[in-house]
Amino acid sequence: MDGTLICPACGAQYPEDDVVWRCRCGSCLDLKEPFRPDPKNFKGPHFLQRYSSVLPLRDPKNAVSFGESTTPLHPMEFYSIPVQVKMDFLLATGSFKDRGAAVMINKCRELGISRIVEDSSGNSASAVAAYSALAGIDAHIFMPAANSSAKTIQVSTYGATLHKISGNRTDCAMAAEEAAAESYYAAHTWNPYFLHGTKTVIYEIMEQMDWKAPGTIFIPVGSGTQLLGIWLGLKEMKRAGLIEKYPRLMAVQSEHCTPIRNFALGKVTPELPKTPILAEGIAIRHPARLSQILQAVKESGGDTVTVTDNDIVEGLQLAAQQGVYMEPTSAAAVAALKQYSDRLTKNDKVVVPLTGHGLKASSRIEQITGSQ
Ligand SMILES: [Zn+2]
Repeated sequence: MDGTLICPACGAQYPEDDVVWRCRCGSCLDLKEPFRPDPKNFKGPHFLQRYSSVLPLRDPKNAVSFGESTTPLHPMEFYSIPVQVKMDFLLATGSFKDRGAAVMINKCRELGISRIVEDSSGNSASAVAAYSALAGIDAHIFMPAANSSAKTIQVSTYGATLHKISGNRTDCAMAAEEAAAESYYAAHTWNPYFLHGTKTVIYEIMEQMDWKAPGTIFIPVGSGTQLLGIWLGLKEMKRAGLIEKYPRLMAVQSEHCTPIRNFALGKVTPELPKTPILAEGIAIRHPARLSQILQAVKESGGDTVTVTDNDIVEGLQLAAQQGVYMEPTSAAAVAALKQYSDRLTKNDKVVVPLTGHGLKASSRIEQITGSQ
């Protein structure tokens, strides 16, 4: 692959060595050249090696890596629906964001970038900080001051420079963009390499399901990095004839922040409340790739699902009773199943990627469940 980046809005193209993070028209950028997956090329124990033939790295053999192992696809049941959960919270920093950070930071390394700026509510900050530590890259992370302390501690302990911003995620993003004028804005929300990392989850799922595609996938959506990664992978597979039909992608949002639904209804998403939001990982008022999220949901035949805090708590407890401890943002996807219990059958092959570990949010979980 030649690595050219293309703007989906205006068609402008940039060689990868230009090291731009968005188009001059303001849009996000994508990789121009699509990959053609061939399962015969999938070799090696961890995703950077195993899926290197569909990753935008020039030298995957020399990529820095924690030796990431394949995460389990584990059978559970919620609201009488049999579900396969993809336990991506078992990656090194405790969330699926490791997939995106692994590819994005290795790309930064290949491009000779030594200093990056990222803004995040937590999980991507931790993943970027950890892979930056591994790659010897100086990471500056902008986070909302009101974030979970466990995530803040994790980021700073990896050695990243933490910039706590009062205000919400939008304020953080603005501060990070300003700081990025003198370094590279490695924002998971904008970065095309990040999405090629998060797409590896659907390759793993397909291999684990013996290339029989799931019927429906419920995904918590904030910036949409997981949903868009999965969509990117599915499109590659369909183009290569590896699947006939797309799984339905169900975009799950918290009742406190529903930009996808609002856009479809022609409504403006109101300011977020000042108090911390239970599903903080998906409280993104202006997703940078909103139009791509809408397109993925529509083209896959999926839908948008809005869940309440009470349902999130219930989902979290139902999972814990089966031995799985996840953070509230992950439990939002479980909560969404409740609304579909009478519309899904046992043959629907439902998959729920579990995005973040419960240990990242124990103090919050103690508050909401009254656990001692
Ligand atoms: Zn453009």
